[in-house]
Formats: sequence, structure tokens, C-alpha cells
Amino acid sequence: MDLMQPHSKLNKFIEDSQRLGSFEFNYVSGEMLWSQGMYQVFDCDIENYSPVIEQHSIFFNANDMEKITTALQQLERFQKPFELIITIRTAKNKQKKIKLSMTGEFVDGKIHRRFGTAQDVTLEIKEQEDSAFFREQVNLALYASNTGTWDYHVASDRLYWDESMFVLFDVVSANDIRGFSSWVDMIHPEDRKEFIDNINLGSKGMLEKNTLLITCRIMTALGRIAFIKINARFYIDEVGQNFRIVGTCVDTTESEIIQREIVNQATLAQENMIKAQDATNARTRFLANMSHEIRTPMNTIMGALQILQSYDLDTDSQSLIEMAMQSSKDLLTLINDILDLSKIDSHEMALESIAVDINDLGKKAIEKFKLQLQKPLKLDIEISPGFNPKRSTDPVRINQVLNNFLANAIKFTQTGAVLLRISGDTENVSISVKDTGIGIPASKLKTIFEPFKQADESTTRHFGGTGLGLAICKSIAELMGGEIKVSSLVGVGSTFIFSVPMSISTLQNIPTNIEHFDNT
Ligand code: ADP
Repeated sequence: MDLMQPHSKLNKFIEDSQRLGSFEFNYVSGEMLWSQGMYQVFDCDIENYSPVIEQHSIFFNANDMEKITTALQQLERFQKPFELIITIRTAKNKQKKIKLSMTGEFVDGKIHRRFGTAQDVTLEIKEQEDSAFFREQVNLALYASNTGTWDYHVASDRLYWDESMFVLFDVVSANDIRGFSSWVDMIHPEDRKEFIDNINLGSKGMLEKNTLLITCRIMTALGRIAFIKINARFYIDEVGQNFRIVGTCVDTTESEIIQREIVNQATLAQENMIKAQDATNARTRFLANMSHEIRTPMNTIMGALQILQSYDLDTDSQSLIEMAMQSSKDLLTLINDILDLSKIDSHEMALESIAVDINDLGKKAIEKFKLQLQKPLKLDIEISPGFNPKRSTDPVRINQVLNNFLANAIKFTQTGAVLLRISGDTENVSISVKDTGIGIPASKLKTIFEPFKQADESTTRHFGGTGLGLAICKSIAELMGGEIKVSSLVGVGSTFIFSVPMSISTLQNIPTNIEHFDNT
């Protein structure tokens, strides 16, 4: 039977709008009455379902049933009304959260009737859970990021701080924060003016998006100095009056210190770099001057030696002049190598790009070495068929590489052959020199490209040289955008390959009488 039948439409409206049903149980007659709303809450068909108390347990789970039984006992014995939130499974097998409220009517202390309401609060509970979950997430994020939140009500000069704010400012009691001014007092004196100026601008609605983001130092209640990033949002009413400021504070001391340290380090590194660069430049200038100063008298000495060579001298004198001539040449080579290295060091080595016949360069180098050759060595050149020798490049530097590779190959090979190979396609050129000489141990293959490094400590003693040539060649290859590779077997021989991008020249090639003595 419908409990509400005799009642007004108003009751029905209330029940529908509140998703609520009411019920009554008469202890004397054992009759249970439900309003229409109850049928809706429990998804029961009003025609076919008659509310019988014994059947109700099917809607509740065991846990909730126990809670209801206990609350009912309290009501019956001690006339104590109750309100419970329980979970039900309706006649349509739907899970709902129900607020069950119940009280009773007593005659001579004995319960006569019990009645109450069951309200479907599924949506409200879900919203509550969702917002609690959201709040929890926000709190967690704020806590994890050391963020405090604050809220300032301008008219009443009331400043609300959350717990994290008290931690950030080392403030123990809320009484220590009276209005905005007590907070301003904690801003470091050197940063206070900027902070106040910004707050004033924000209060007048003059900040972009009415938002302030500022980092300032604070002096906490314990005298600790910390960096705080303050983010504030100004609320302005229709008449342009600022009525509220809400914001966050984050302790950025650690990152601020790290950042400052990084800036200091970077500045220091930059200063050192400039100093080093200055030193390198000074060294290069000094070497350029020195080599010029040495070369001039050197040329005079060599000129004098050449004249002496043409005299009809005895064999001893001839060989002494020959020795002096060779030493002078060695000295000139050394000076030029040192100067080249220092230019590379200070990024001053500029490359030319002119029309050159690579084959001519190779052939001339071979001819020159053949003339000087004093060993039973076969010296040859092999040009790959179809190779186009007309290229745009720096002939002085190519000659330098050719001379170094060939001089080394001849120096470190007693018998057998030295072969210069030139090959390439339209974009690249490869110059390799293969010998049948002493070879290089695998462990030294990398270090020989470092300045002053030789494969063997005794190399200078046995073969002369300074260990600068390959370092220069490697730098030239890199400057040209290419590389040098070496393969070698001790006792079998070595192959040095210089490969660089080199485009074909459409210009007329120039004569290739290029020597490497015009460095200054
Ligand atoms: P240098 O020849 O003046 O010593 P390099 O830089 O041209 O200087 O060569 C470095 C070292 O590499 C040489 O001292 C030598 O030990 C090794 N090397 C270079 N070319 C050869 C080669 N063709 N055969 C054997 N060893 C070589």
C-alpha cells in the first residue's frame, strides 16, 4: 500500500526532487507502508511488490545489515533515532548509496511505530568522493612541491595561510601573522620594495592577467634566508577595487642556489676561455713573428751554403756543408709545422679554394721524392681510371699532406715500394700512400695523430722528425670536412688514406708549383 496516497502532490514533488522515499512500520499490526518514492529508490514495481519486512534484507549487504540491526536495537531500546549511509542493490540489480534516516513513536516507553526516509544519495556521494580525491591530489602536489597557499581578504586585512606556509616561513603560531604587513616585514629588505611595488600594481589591476609571479628572498621567523617564488592572483570587482588576493609560495632556495652556481661556473668558464683564447692568440702572434725572424737569417744561411756548395772544395768540407744544409731545411720544416699547429689551435688556419689538378700535384710530389731518393725503393703513382683531377681546393694544404705521407713512407721503408694512389668520385677525393716499411704497432695507431707523438720513443733518434706532421694532416682533413685513416702491420707496411669532399672545378686549372714556405 502507498504510504503517501492520502497526501498532497507537494509530498510527491518533494520525494521526486530529493530522490527520496518514506516508510513506516507498525509494530502492532506488523504492517509495512512505502511511499511511491520508496518504490523508485529500490527500483520496485509498485503493482507487483509488496514491502514485507523480512524481504528487505535482500537489498542490503551483510555488513550494512548488521549496522541497520544494531541501529534498530538502539532505536527500540533507547529511543535513539539514527541516520546511516548504506549501499543497496536494487530490484533491478543496480548499486545505489542510500541515506537511511529513522525514528520511532513510543507508547509508555515501548516502540509502537518506526518510520523514516530512504534517500538516493549515489550522485552526492560520488561528487563528494571525487572532490575529496581531487583535494587530496592537490594537497599531495602542493606538499610534494613544498608549496604553501594563501588567501588575503583586502577589506578586512585578513591573511589566511595553510600549514605549508607556516613551515616555509618557520612561523609557529597563527597569531604571529596579523594582516598583510606582518608578512611584508618578512620579505628581505633588499627585495621588499620590488615586492610592494608589484603588489600595488596588482591591486590597481595593472598586472597582466591580474597575475603576479615574482621570486624574492625572505627572512623567516628563525632568521633563515630563503628564496620564495610567489604566485598571486588579484581579484578586482566591477568598480576596479581589489577585494581579494589568492596565491601560492614555493621554496626555490635549492634550485636558486644551484642556478646561481651554474651562472657563476659558466661566467668563470667563459672568462677562462677568453683568457685561454687570448693566450693562444698571443702565442700564435709570437710564433708568427719568431718564425719570420728565424726564417730570414735562415734563408741567408742557406743561400750562403748553396754558394759554398758551388765552390771546388774537398770532400770533407762538402759533406760538412751538406750537413749544415740538411739541418737548415729540417729547422725550417719544424718552424713551419709549429706555426701551422698554432694556427690550427687558434682557429686561424684558413683554407683556400682554387682550381687545382690533383694528378699534377701527385706526379710532381713523386718526381721530387724520386730525385732525393737514396734507397733501393720503387716509388710510383697510380691514378684510378676515370678520375677527374680538376678540383677546387687548397693546393698548399693538399701538398702538405702528400709530402708528409710520402716523406714518412720513404723514411720508414728501407726496401720494397711506396705507392701513391689517387681516386675519387665527383664529390670526394681520396689520396692514399702505401708502403712496405716497418709498420706501426696497433696500440700506437691512434696516438701518432697527436702532436709530438711518435710510434716509438727511438723514432727521432733513428729517423729524425718531430711527430707534428700527422697531427697537422689530421687537422687539415677535418678542416676540409674529411678524415684520415691508417692501416698498418708491423714488418709488413702501412697505408695512410686522406679522404675529403672536393668538388670538381669548372675553372681553368693553375700551375701547381706550390711549396709550403709561405706561412706568415
Ligand atoms: P714525424 O714523422 O715527424 O715523427 P709524423 O706526425 O708525421 O711525425 O708521424 C708520427 C709518427 O707516426 C712517426 O714518428 C712514426 O712513428 C709513425 N709513422 C708515420 N708514418 C709512418 C709510416 N709510413 N710507417 C711507419 N710509421 C709511421
